[in-house]
Amino acid sequence: MRRYIEDYRDIVGDEVIYEICKEARKLYGKHILHINSTYQGGGVAEILSAGVSLMNDVGVDTGWRILHGSPDFFTITKKFHNALQGEHIHFTEMKKSLYMQTNEEFAQYTHINHDIIVVHDPQPLPLIRFYKKKQPWIWRCHVDLSNPNPEVWDFLKSFILRYDAVWVSNEKYKSDDLPVEQRVIHPFIDPLSSKNIELPESVIKKYLRKFSIPTDKPIITQVSRFDKWKDPMGVVEVFKLVKEEMDCRLVLCGSAARDDPEATVIYEEVRRKAKPLIKSGDVILITRENNILVNALQRTAAVVLQKSLREGFGLTVTEALWKAKPVVASNVGGIPLQIEDGKSGYLVEPNDVEGFADRVIELMQKPEKAAQMGRRGRKTVKEKFLITRGLLEHIRLLSEFA
Ligand code: UDP
Repeated sequence: MRRYIEDYRDIVGDEVIYEICKEARKLYGKHILHINSTYQGGGVAEILSAGVSLMNDVGVDTGWRILHGSPDFFTITKKFHNALQGEHIHFTEMKKSLYMQTNEEFAQYTHINHDIIVVHDPQPLPLIRFYKKKQPWIWRCHVDLSNPNPEVWDFLKSFILRYDAVWVSNEKYKSDDLPVEQRVIHPFIDPLSSKNIELPESVIKKYLRKFSIPTDKPIITQVSRFDKWKDPMGVVEVFKLVKEEMDCRLVLCGSAARDDPEATVIYEEVRRKAKPLIKSGDVILITRENNILVNALQRTAAVVLQKSLREGFGLTVTEALWKAKPVVASNVGGIPLQIEDGKSGYLVEPNDVEGFADRVIELMQKPEKAAQMGRRGRKTVKEKFLITRGLLEHIRLLSEFA
């Protein structure tokens, strides 16, 4: 949906709006291009769909192109993604060659004459090799880079070295062995998107009914792609422990991103593991992409979980905090930037299933404490992780190259 900057006045105030418009002047006449590999599913698409629209609204011509790839290409880049987050990979010449070939083909018919190029994540990273470079190129990496597989990192670095800057989501992801200038820029959410906007009770009920989610028991939810790093299997374990103490229901909502071929495998594993619970209606798995459902679900939940083993930033956490929900989440990646443990939610070590269950039970038993944490969480998001702040940071960083 088309956005206008003044729509955000009520949320952030006039000064912020003015500041954005003022800073945007520095980029007048410049044409910015973002390139990533999916238009839906996952945090990057979420950020681009809202951010690109607003950049244009404040007078900065900003385009968005999507790298086309075969399923095999996305299987390989998913492996690279996993390897960047520390996993072992069988790194063959064939993988490298399909990766390069896809980028080379795309470059052949994708003409670039923009003033600044921002490339997101590893999929389109090598594109830079196939253009006569006439402008600054920025690699915006949304992945947790704190412990990359050395072989893959070394391979990808040969492209990263051609870039003018690398933007990461967390101070901890800056790399010592990279001479390229590295900057931190936090992701953000759009409070007016269908995923985050206030919903009337009637709409919430309608959507829960539509997706056959009963509300006779408290709901615990995790909204995340079916991905091993999001640990949906672990969430089921946590739920089993919680369920021994309190009657409740788990909803796992995880549509598949187009560039994430592993999702079906993980989904099937979860379905097998939770079969009896699914049968009894205590666990509900949802795979359809629907922003209003995500919104309704997060708003209905008694507690929101994010049991990631690795997490670039964790926009689902941001979304839940914005809805003033108590969140129990892993102490990994960008999550501790968002939650102050014991104040605006709980942080638990990722493999501590019992720790997760204890916190969830506590929050369900103490609704006042849960509500207080939720309020503090919302305040943090308002101050640090809304699109308006993101836009301002973006404009300022881009202006350095203008
Ligand atoms: N998301 C969604 N539907 C789903 C699962 C995820 O719309 O079924 C959205 C979620 O609301 C969030 C984004 O995808 O906006 C996930 O971003 P996050 O940073 O949490 O993780 P990523 O998928 O980028 O690793």
